[in-house]
Amino acid sequence: MPIQIIIEKCTGCSLCIKACPFDAIRVIDKKALIDLDKCNLCGACVPACKLKAILLEKPQTTCVLTDILDYKGIWVFIEQKNSHVQSVSYELLGKAQELAKKLNTQVSGVLIGNSLDDQLDELIFRGADNIYLVEAPEIANFQDEPYTNILVGLIKKYKPEIILCGATAIGRSLISRVAVSIKAGLTADCTGLDIDPERKILLQTRPAFGGNIMATIISPNYRPQMATVRHKVMQPMEQDLRRKGKIIRENFVSKTYFSRTKLIDIVEEIESTVNLAEADIIVSGGRGLGAKENFKIIEELAQSLGAAVGSSRAAVDAGWMPYSHQVGQTGRTVAPKIYIACGISGQIQHLVGMQSSKIIIAINKDPEAPIFKVATYGIVGDLFQIAPALSKKFKEILKK
Ligand code: FAD
Repeated sequence: MPIQIIIEKCTGCSLCIKACPFDAIRVIDKKALIDLDKCNLCGACVPACKLKAILLEKPQTTCVLTDILDYKGIWVFIEQKNSHVQSVSYELLGKAQELAKKLNTQVSGVLIGNSLDDQLDELIFRGADNIYLVEAPEIANFQDEPYTNILVGLIKKYKPEIILCGATAIGRSLISRVAVSIKAGLTADCTGLDIDPERKILLQTRPAFGGNIMATIISPNYRPQMATVRHKVMQPMEQDLRRKGKIIRENFVSKTYFSRTKLIDIVEEIESTVNLAEADIIVSGGRGLGAKENFKIIEELAQSLGAAVGSSRAAVDAGWMPYSHQVGQTGRTVAPKIYIACGISGQIQHLVGMQSSKIIIAINKDPEAPIFKVATYGIVGDLFQIAPALSKKFKEILKK
């Protein structure tokens, strides 16, 4: 059995029950019992047991890359559309610079497309020390196979120790193919990245098991260590016009650009709702609103500030708001200048989607609501009184 209770040591103290995110442990006759149908072998119970009464067998990882020390530097896949760098790449460059200082290494961007010369300076001003540039008319727009071939070719040639990529439609499609091709691990949708000060490896933090726990994942035995991060989770670096960088132009033989799929047309998605990810101010409503029609209070407050309207999943699930407004782990990730949460409790799945906001204002009648732990300003009270009063005041001041 991969996990078992050492009956002689167990006193039935229940600490393991509290640690288990899957409700897989019961205490019967003062002994813990694990329900293997529910248990996911996550191991959260093992350190919780003070008496070391839980035995978890982990498979031995014996396969280690032999030339691991040859891998150096941090790479960011630079996403471009219509030959314009997408803002998620600047966010990743900012984070990569922070990590590079801890590793005493350099940050390189990998830019693939065509006619990209006018994008290079900005990448350097915002954190790239080097840019690997691959240009050809056939690869002007993203396509899975050629972009994978190119990135894999560059990785094999230059051996970066870390690769970061946006968790966008393009990034997700590309980087999973790359990871499989080079047999490296990949941690998707990270909300935090850091360097282990002793082992000098990448610590990749993301919500796991349905958001019940935050897991920090490492790839100690393979290189590169690869992670994707959603748009707006990391902060871009301030533009530094004094920064200098090196452009490394790379050429590939034409068969590298072969694709089994043919790009016929690119159709831009028409946003029927305001683009939450780009909004400077968001007013969000949750289950505390009690009914669909009460969302007009949120809309009015948003209107008074020129803000976009967001929502918790509870309000979406209740049918009060369309999914396109949902903020959180399974909705949009946002980082506006101001985020106003009305009647939202602040469960982790909501917080991971908005906690990078510059100022968070929470309105909640429960002073113990977890949203107050991340709030810059907290208003304890009834949103049905507070939100309309704020709208009135903002309208007066801002003349909206
Ligand atoms: P509740 O938790 O019910 O909170 C309502 C709050 O309103 C309470 O704090 C209450 O005190 C307050 N309130 C009530 N009446 C008033 C009043 N008159 N005035 C002021 N305050 C009042 N959630 C998301 O939001 N986004 C996601 O992307 C998301 N993804 C998920 C993914 C998974 C896999 C899972 C398992 C869950 C996910 N959730 C997500 C759900 C999340 O766990 C919570 O259930 C959800 O965020 C709760 O929404 P809420 O805060 O609106 O509701």
